[in-house]
Amino acid sequence: MAKITLDNLAHSYLPNPKGEDDFALKELNHDWVDGEAYALLGASGCGKSTLLNIISGLLHPSQGRILFDDKDVTHAPTTERNIAQVFQFPVVYDTMTVRDNLAFPLRNRGADAAYVAQRVQQIAAMIGMEDMLNRKARGLAADAKQKISLGRGMVREDVNALLFDEPLTVIDPHMKWELRTQLKSLHHEFGHTMIYVTHDQTEALTFADKVAVMFDGRVVQMGTPQELFERPEHTFVGYFIGSPGMNVLNAEVTGDRAMIAGTQVALGRDFGAPTGKVELGVRPEFTRLTSEDTGLPVTIKRIEDVGRHKIVRADFEGTPLNVIVEEGREISPDMTRITFDPAGVNIYADSWRVAPKGDAA
Ligand code: ADP
Ligand code: MG
Repeated sequence: MAKITLDNLAHSYLPNPKGEDDFALKELNHDWVDGEAYALLGASGCGKSTLLNIISGLLHPSQGRILFDDKDVTHAPTTERNIAQVFQFPVVYDTMTVRDNLAFPLRNRGADAAYVAQRVQQIAAMIGMEDMLNRKARGLAADAKQKISLGRGMVREDVNALLFDEPLTVIDPHMKWELRTQLKSLHHEFGHTMIYVTHDQTEALTFADKVAVMFDGRVVQMGTPQELFERPEHTFVGYFIGSPGMNVLNAEVTGDRAMIAGTQVALGRDFGAPTGKVELGVRPEFTRLTSEDTGLPVTIKRIEDVGRHKIVRADFEGTPLNVIVEEGREISPDMTRITFDPAGVNIYADSWRVAPKGDAA
């Protein structure tokens, strides 16, 4: 197991990249702490696979270095990195049995037969394929093959890191949950450094201790699920995480006041005088409907009852605003204004969070 350091890393698929736009991965400096379970979360095309393939050595970066425990492996081949990687689609040997597929990475490294037999049995139980060990992989359904791929990724105990690239895409929803739970218990048992790529926030937030959110070739925030929820460092994090995501409104901010389309809003904290494109972000959980004569006037478009709470879809001068109303709270027709709980308000300048005065971060 190892700490993985990305030093000044960047990657372009073009031979002669000109500007930043030509880079699939923009400059990145980051440590992946030894033994932690990470999720790499972002929309399709933001650079997740590119980053993962650079860590595993399938791809060589156009700039910067990768270190495993301070050893430079930037130009080391995949085999020397001692990493297990599972891809989105199954990679199995069709002519081999399930058992031989699972045993392959162990036999390849000269493990003794008794250990191989015992370990294969253990992994087969984790992926729910104990009664299929003697079947040839050929002819198995895509999800069964993907479970074999997953099992092969997990079979070795001596890897530096385990990398998963959207490994549950072809697996049915119930099994997804089951396998994710197995991956988590594998992490607790062996404490491997794990990086799990997904575009699904639920998957990321339930699997990982820390989530790295990627947007447009950048890791815009790395944090615990709670940090991503409470203080999104970038408007994309606010919008991408949460359901519904953070409300974002154009604002003019001076000190502890914001002006939003002519209405003054108290912020509770002093944000100085941010410049550029200034926005106020507040999650639906910290947004309230009121019948009092204060706050932003809105039009309610729709109320959705999702069981645990209601989601009110409102409109403020053409900008959608969502409010989460706890179960049992009445929503009356005279509630035509919206206020924000100052503790849940974040201010952004050019999409990046502005730290209020006295804020530790
Ligand atoms: P993700 O895994 O987040 O969906 P990728 O890392 O696959 O994103 O892709 C990031 C960007 O790099 C995308 O714009 C994609 O089109 C581009 N890209 C990925 N692979 C290649 C490649 N082999 N050659 C050229 N461009 C690529
Ligand atoms: Mg990908």
